[in-house]
This record gives sequence, C-alpha cells and structure tokens, in this order.
Amino acid sequence: MFFASDSQGKVWYGIAGTSLETRPGNYPLELRAATITGKEITFQKRITVGKGKYHSIVASVPKQYTEPNPEQLREISQDKTLKEHAFAQLTPEREWAGSFHPPVKAQISDVFGTSRTFNGRVQSVHQGLDYAVPAGTPVAALNSGTVVLAQPLFFEGDCVVLDHGQGLLTLYMHLSKIEVKEGEHITSGQQVGLSGGSGRATGPHLHVAVRWQGVYLNPETLLSLQLP
Ligand SMILES: [Zn+2]
Repeated sequence: MFFASDSQGKVWYGIAGTSLETRPGNYPLELRAATITGKEITFQKRITVGKGKYHSIVASVPKQYTEPNPEQLREISQDKTLKEHAFAQLTPEREWAGSFHPPVKAQISDVFGTSRTFNGRVQSVHQGLDYAVPAGTPVAALNSGTVVLAQPLFFEGDCVVLDHGQGLLTLYMHLSKIEVKEGEHITSGQQVGLSGGSGRATGPHLHVAVRWQGVYLNPETLLSLQLP
C-alpha cells in the first residue's frame, strides 16, 4: 500500500480496497513506520468486511459474445495478453490528486457486483459501474493519470485504461470513439472518448471500472471519498 502526505505533512493517507471474493469477517490491519530518529512505531486496527447484497439479471447479447468462433477465441486470447500487460503497469508515484469525479453526469443503470447470465448460458459478475448515456456522450477521466491502453477489444469494445499510479487504474469501456493515445498524460476531467455500445453490450451505455492492486473495486466507493 502506498501513502502520501497532505500539503502540511501532518496527515498521511492511502487508498486500499477489497475484492468481491473477500469473505465477511474481521481482518487485522497493521501499519509500521519509522520516525525521523529511526524509532519504529506500529499501529493495529481490525477492519470489518461486511456482507454485501447483490442482485442477478439476465441479458441478451449477440451470439458471438457467448459462443465465439475460433477466430474470435484467438482475438479474446490476444486481448487477455494486452490487458495483462496494461495491468502490470504499476507506477509507484501517485498521479491522481484530490477526489475522483464521475465520468458523465447521468443515472447509474447497473451497480457493481450484479450476477449476470448472458443468453442463458454465460455467467459473469459485473465488476464495474454502468451509466445510462446515449452513444456520443463525452467521457471524462475520473482523475489524472497516464493512458496504458487505448484500443478496441472483443468484449470491452473501444477501451481506455488509465494508470493513476500507486496500483490504481480506471477503465472506460464500450466507447464509440477513443480520443487519447497510449503513453499520453491525462488531467482529471479530461475527455478520453465518446460513449457507445461497442463490444459485449446490450446497448449504448458507459461501463467504468476501478482496479486496485489486481482486484476490481466498487467505483461508487472511490467516487464518494473526500480526498485531499
Ligand atoms: Zn458494465
């Protein structure tokens, strides 16, 4: 976990999260630090992970997304490698600053954690947040960061992945247009593309995901934090 201090250097803060697979219970949190004179200080706290309630839906998508042909399976496998490469980026320096802001001003059409059954045969857990927006709606970066992936993928459609540093990534999917390039530095709120319905989508909407240290977190929680 990474920490940063506020402008006065009095308060240190960091972001941590837990995945959907974590069992409810009490987990120990231990922090160790050294003072300027080398004296070690430790801090312990028990963190309670509660039980979440998630709903289930059924959805219909074109057959290729539940029964891909050999060529499409190859594409899916290539995408997996591309994503693994993008997700392996871990900039220890913090690129994000201040609170995270919603990518669009719109209603949420599906929350994090929903169990979905596509075409009655493929099970998938919704690891992001859906916004009900028509195609062509400008999509803003949740915070500042660097583009580590900006290209069409089979399931995700036109996809942008931003690295915010300290193991925190945000993903923007099903876009109709990508307006940034890999390696480009993005400021908070900057337009990364236009929404759409590309990839495995039941129709135009924006899917946003938050990845932290290899697990997906609920974007609504990150968006609700007041950060210095
Ligand atoms: Zn979604």
